[in-house]
Amino acid sequence: MARTTPPHPVDIAAVFPEIAPLARTATRLHPRPGTPGLYDSSIGGPLLWPFDEPWPTCGDSHEDAGGYFTRLDTERRRRRILSAAWGRTRKGERLAITPEEQAELDGLDEDYADPDTPATMLGVAQLFMRDVPGLAGPAGADVLQILWCPRDHEPHYSPSLMLRWRRSSDVTDVLTDQPEPEVMEYDTYLPVPCVLHPEQVVEYPYKAFLPSDLKKRIRLWEEASGHRYFYDLSIADGWKVGGYAAWNLTDPYPMLCDDCGADMDMLVKIDGSEWDGTERWRPLEDAGPENEFHEHPNRWEPTGITIGRGYALWIFTCPVSFDHPHGVSMQ
Ligand SMILES: [Zn+2]
Ligand SMILES: [Zn+2]
Repeated sequence: MARTTPPHPVDIAAVFPEIAPLARTATRLHPRPGTPGLYDSSIGGPLLWPFDEPWPTCGDSHEDAGGYFTRLDTERRRRRILSAAWGRTRKGERLAITPEEQAELDGLDEDYADPDTPATMLGVAQLFMRDVPGLAGPAGADVLQILWCPRDHEPHYSPSLMLRWRRSSDVTDVLTDQPEPEVMEYDTYLPVPCVLHPEQVVEYPYKAFLPSDLKKRIRLWEEASGHRYFYDLSIADGWKVGGYAAWNLTDPYPMLCDDCGADMDMLVKIDGSEWDGTERWRPLEDAGPENEFHEHPNRWEPTGITIGRGYALWIFTCPVSFDHPHGVSMQ
């Protein structure tokens, strides 16, 4: 099912024509739980990986040395139990869990493990250019793969990311039994397998980057009209490719390439929630019909991941060369 973002509540470019040239197109990915295959764009699905290419491990140091962490297979069992139990629980009623399920859940709570060393990377996203308009990569590449180490790392105390661009036709002998780490720092670092429903939307700059006169007039207009530029009109909620970056946690700072110093471009936003309580960014198709039973995961948190206290990871890439290291901001 396609996903359709509600139209902007007001055409900001009609109110302030000088903002029109600043419009950018972003592609919302709209992940929803499913069973993606090796050749599909996905979040939390298998990656199209050459059989003879080593699966990466994390080279960074970990903030968590000595802790005990959730096992990935344990978390999958926990999600299966809870998904079944919530699926037969009517809204407003207590969780309809059987004694057997409860006993199994209680057992899982004890099932922790020492971290393995070195930490194996976990496949997080696979984006084919044919599915994601606006996704641009190195010459010849047609798919972007994102992996992360589900442990906490400096400077954001978040998973450490790795990007792989490849030409899918180069992968003739596919690695089907894909390695993964044994444990993770938090159970919210394991993405629920999701298929994607990409959709292009129009974005405008983060408020701090507007020309100062325009920024002031927009603020006065917000007070008079009740419209909210930042939350409703500028940058989309949820996973997306391209468009503008937000800086609402730290205020803007330059994202410069470590290799060449160039100003980097927004590539992908990894987000835990697809829309907030205002439902401004909730696709029309997700408005209903309301199910009488609970849904687990929630419609607005389909991938099951959480970054920090509900933040997002913004991945940047160097415009000079895709061989230069990516940048990450947490907002
Ligand atoms: Zn790591
Ligand atoms: Zn560079």
